[in-house]
Amino acid sequence: MKAAVVNDFTAPLEIEDRPVPEPAPHQVLVRIEASGLCHTDIHAAHGDWPVKPSPPFVPGHEGVGIVEAAGELVRHVAVGERVAIAWLADACGRCDQCVSGWETLCLQQHNSGYSVDGAYAEYAVAHGDYVVPVPEGLDPLDAAPLSCAGVTTYKAVKDSGARPGTRVLVSGIGGLGHLALQYARISGAETIAVDITDDKLRLARDLGADHVIDARTADVAAEVQKLGGAHAAIALAVNNASFQAAYGALRRSGTLVLVALPAEGRLELPVFDTVLNGTSVIGSIVGTREDLAEVFRLHALGRTRVIRESRRLDEVNSSFADILSGRVTARLVFDLR
Ligand code: NAD
Ligand code: ZN
Ligand code: ZN
Repeated sequence: MKAAVVNDFTAPLEIEDRPVPEPAPHQVLVRIEASGLCHTDIHAAHGDWPVKPSPPFVPGHEGVGIVEAAGELVRHVAVGERVAIAWLADACGRCDQCVSGWETLCLQQHNSGYSVDGAYAEYAVAHGDYVVPVPEGLDPLDAAPLSCAGVTTYKAVKDSGARPGTRVLVSGIGGLGHLALQYARISGAETIAVDITDDKLRLARDLGADHVIDARTADVAAEVQKLGGAHAAIALAVNNASFQAAYGALRRSGTLVLVALPAEGRLELPVFDTVLNGTSVIGSIVGTREDLAEVFRLHALGRTRVIRESRRLDEVNSSFADILSGRVTARLVFDLR
């Protein structure tokens, strides 16, 4: 099979021929149809974060495909079904986090395309209990971005307290942000979209944002305060200054939800203002298998639109470059069919 491999944090990915992996008794072998390019894959390939993956590894945690073989212990999916391989490759299933609905915080978890090989390949093996079934009729090219960009922002919007009567700022209308904006609208909130490229600002308008702010020219915090301030701000831009702007856009008792993970990510938190304003700052990491099932159901009902372009896997390096230079409208998806 063909796979895109990170051999070195400072070198381009290489397309390699590898043997198709054999599923262990608890695993499924998935023939990948579509594999989304999340900005996290770029951080992984560059070794941006304090805990680094170990090259050589295959990135990719928005993998959608057909189960081609299943180990003898696999119960809840069968050969021929379409499934998604998401960031949470597996967790222990027994700790306090796992049993209380917070499997995404399990200390013993593995992560697809990071600590175990992921979906930038024609085949991948995955834990049979942790792949998520994709409902009949969903286009795999839509299901792939929903498997990380969708579930992450669905969860972040839920945890932000967005509901009718609130005002929600979405900072960064990229792969994650264009879906965050849609979930915020579904929640009934008034929405404010912020980005730094004309394409993304246009996309935000097309998707129905109530207010659109260009962070290149406007003082985001001041503009949002003129509207009354944001009850919640969801930080999805890979840029430290954008965190400060999102924090400054909050109204009293507002919540800043941190999601983006730039290398050397930092937010300066003024203690006095945070205390006096009753501000909350929370971190949000992907979502559970159940969150992803809900995301797929919403999409099947026609409530969300995935804006994406498809590419070939051997275009992986130019695809990374296109994302980094802002040339991509929302999500890139490798079509492996
Ligand atoms: P992306 O590159 O598709 O989108 C980022 C967007 O931010 C782009 O539209 C860009 O134009 C915009 N932007 C850049 N600077 C800006 C600024 N100053 N103000 C406003 N917008 C600005 O990336 P993505 O795939 O959406 O991922 C975003 C981040 O989220 C990455 O750091 C990724 O690793 C992280 N991520 C986190 C989780 C999680 O669970 N916490 C999950 C997936 C991705
Ligand atoms: Zn991701
Ligand atoms: Zn656990």
